[in-house]
Amino acid sequence: MTTHHHRPESEIALRVKAIESLLVEKGIVDPAALDTIIEHYEHQVGPHVGAQIVAKAWVDPDFKRRLLADGTGAIAELGLTGFSSEHMIVVANTATVHNLIVCTLCSCYPWAILGLPPTWYKSLAYRSRAVIEPRSVLAEFGLVLPDTVEVCVWDSNADLRYLVLPERPDGAEGLSEEALAALVTRNAMIGTAKVEPPTSPTPIAA
Ligand code: FE
Repeated sequence: MTTHHHRPESEIALRVKAIESLLVEKGIVDPAALDTIIEHYEHQVGPHVGAQIVAKAWVDPDFKRRLLADGTGAIAELGLTGFSSEHMIVVANTATVHNLIVCTLCSCYPWAILGLPPTWYKSLAYRSRAVIEPRSVLAEFGLVLPDTVEVCVWDSNADLRYLVLPERPDGAEGLSEEALAALVTRNAMIGTAKVEPPTSPTPIAA
């Protein structure tokens, strides 16, 4: 038999609740507006937005060029400007360069196009080790890179957010932009994974 214990809410969660109820009580914040913002980041913004950008860059070389030259401008072309207006820099992975994104100071992240950051991204271990020993960190994510591949680590901040443009996998020829976007994962756009080739349909045993 197993027993389940409900963990008490963390101190920070309780503080946030207390501040929120004070702001609402004093009429400073409209609870409906808060719900809209939370709904936006939980459901409307997410890695699927970044995946659209990556897929477009894979099929449209001119867009890719603009994206790498001016990330903010090229992303705005797609009408994907959200609540945050931070400058976006897009860094492309190649056969010889692998990019990894971190925020060593806190948890700066391209919210507008990737949604909420994963918990590990905000952890002290990731924030410090991604810079000191990126290859070990990547290996722990299951990504072992040969020495011939240079690893570039980009430190985000409140003014500059980075997005990794992963390499288009082999075996994805002939896929539509939509089908390509479905292959692109959040971690591939942070740089802790590659985009895997599409899985071929499993033959039905005779
Ligand atoms: Fe930060």
